[in-house]
Amino acid sequence: MHKVSFFKSIHVKLVLIYILLILLALQIIGIYFSRELEQNLKSNFQQSIYQRVDLMQYSIREEILKERDDTMPSLEESLNSIVKEFSTGDILEIRVIDNRYRILATSESNNQNLIGQSSNTDTVRRAISAETAFDLISLDKKTRNRVWELATPIRDGAGPEDEIIGVLYIISDIETVFGQVSDINSIFLGGTAVSLVITIFLGILVARTITQPIADMRKQAQAMAKGNFARKVRVYGTDEIGQLAITFNHLTNRLQEATSTTEAERRKLDSVLSNMTDGVIATDRKGRIILINDPALELLHISRDVTLGRPIASVLGIEQEYNFEDLIHMNDAVNLNFSTAEAPYILRANFSVIQKETGFINGLITVLHDITEQEKIEMERREFVSNVSHELRTPLTTMRSYLEALADGAWKDESIAPSFLNVTQTETERMIRLVNDLLQLSRMDSQDYELKKDIVLFNSFFNSIIDRFEMAKSQNVTFERLLPEASYYVEIDTDKVTQVIDNIISNAIKYSPDGGSVRFGFTVQGEMLKVMISDDGMGIPKENVTRIFDRFYRVDRARARSMGGTGLGLAIAREMIEAHGGKIWAESEEGYGTTIFFTLPYDLDEFDEEGEWE
Ligand code: ADP
Repeated sequence: MHKVSFFKSIHVKLVLIYILLILLALQIIGIYFSRELEQNLKSNFQQSIYQRVDLMQYSIREEILKERDDTMPSLEESLNSIVKEFSTGDILEIRVIDNRYRILATSESNNQNLIGQSSNTDTVRRAISAETAFDLISLDKKTRNRVWELATPIRDGAGPEDEIIGVLYIISDIETVFGQVSDINSIFLGGTAVSLVITIFLGILVARTITQPIADMRKQAQAMAKGNFARKVRVYGTDEIGQLAITFNHLTNRLQEATSTTEAERRKLDSVLSNMTDGVIATDRKGRIILINDPALELLHISRDVTLGRPIASVLGIEQEYNFEDLIHMNDAVNLNFSTAEAPYILRANFSVIQKETGFINGLITVLHDITEQEKIEMERREFVSNVSHELRTPLTTMRSYLEALADGAWKDESIAPSFLNVTQTETERMIRLVNDLLQLSRMDSQDYELKKDIVLFNSFFNSIIDRFEMAKSQNVTFERLLPEASYYVEIDTDKVTQVIDNIISNAIKYSPDGGSVRFGFTVQGEMLKVMISDDGMGIPKENVTRIFDRFYRVDRARARSMGGTGLGLAIAREMIEAHGGKIWAESEEGYGTTIFFTLPYDLDEFDEEGEWE
């Protein structure tokens, strides 16, 4: 925040306004006061002169009008003595002039030579010609002091109509009056200066009481903006500014509470967002990403840096199909298929709009959910249903056509009827086998079975199964037993493991060429017994090796079915081996043969006591 410049601060402004106000007030008062004072002093001064003028006029008139004889002093002498008598104090000179402008007397001894001369004083001439008193303030040429010249006509009677017989001309020193005014003005100016200094001092004080709390609040607001709520504004009093400071502190507390609540909520939301398994992405109202949680980054395999600020549709890889406007109005979830040839990967995106009460759209929330597993299960379920229907329909269709032929009269034909019946019987058996296999798988899926485990010597157990096949085999296949000498005991459900080995051996024989060989063996691998049944038959293409354990999977459907397989044998085998805690897998090279491996766990300690192990 900018610092307030010196001349723009309220502090300086207040002090300046204060000074100007006081100056203005003193100026107005001073002008009025000094004018009044001057008027007053001047009129007092003039009044005192006028009083003497009246007396002088009377004496002079008497003297002029008096009948004179030789015993009496001359008029000029008499008048001179009168004017000298009155010429005291402020009066500098008094002259008596007759109506023909001749100077009759003067109180100034230096001007006695003027007596008998004509007066050329302007004031006198004007008073005579205008027949009225005339006065003016002029500057004394010698002393440079201001003097008041007054010329009053002397009439031969007391009335205003009486004839003018002369003029009384008085020069008085009015400078003393102005001197007094100027002294008083100086005192006033001194007072003004003192009051200005006091005003400045008081102004600074008053301004401080206002600006100090404001500056305090400003600092507080700046601290609050930086997240520091510990600071408090000092409350100087209970006036309006004090109230403002109290309110400000209250506001700080409330803001602190609100901020900590928001912060706590944010942290809560943060932890919810990062701990949930679903991905969450939030955008602004233009569709640019403003928030993305860690699961979303993991699901989309991207980093936060490259995501923030980018359009949502492009990050989800659906910018070709939808723009942001479409996503806002999207009611259904969108499946994002990131599957590759190697692995399926499907995400489901649900969209919801962040809307204000006014309906204004603020952004979009996208929730991402990994539905790969779900989709896989769903696909498997659909495939399973279609497989089952297909597997059942084929024998049923065959049986129907044979039964129709029999019903149409073939039953009478002894040469074909038995073979027709034989086919229907085979198909029925196949269906029974299929249904039995399905039932068995279903029981395993729902864990609706228990393994009846017995401890058996695996060597003889395995041998007895191979013996059974060797005795029953119809094909020209040789059996090679690569079994270890030592005895190995395992705890197994013999029925179930027999079924597994039966299935593997019958497949090996089934897919072996005429004259081929089937090898049997087992070894110890860690805590497991690894069993191997290998043939040199047609083999399985590399890409299908892992799939032969899937339900209904057959490499060559037509061929496998013709061999009477259901496609469930190895799927059941896998379930059974896994139920025993083992694993089953195949290794095969197309055209060279196939080896099926499976492992079974055995407990080393248990058999040590019997000394059966090497
Ligand atoms: P089926 O009843 O069809 O034999 P399985 O589940 O036992 O069903 O086997 C699945 C598929 O695996 C078979 O259809 C066959 O294509 C392939 N298969 C299994 N064992 C062998 C083997 N030893 N040699 C070649 N292919 C085999």
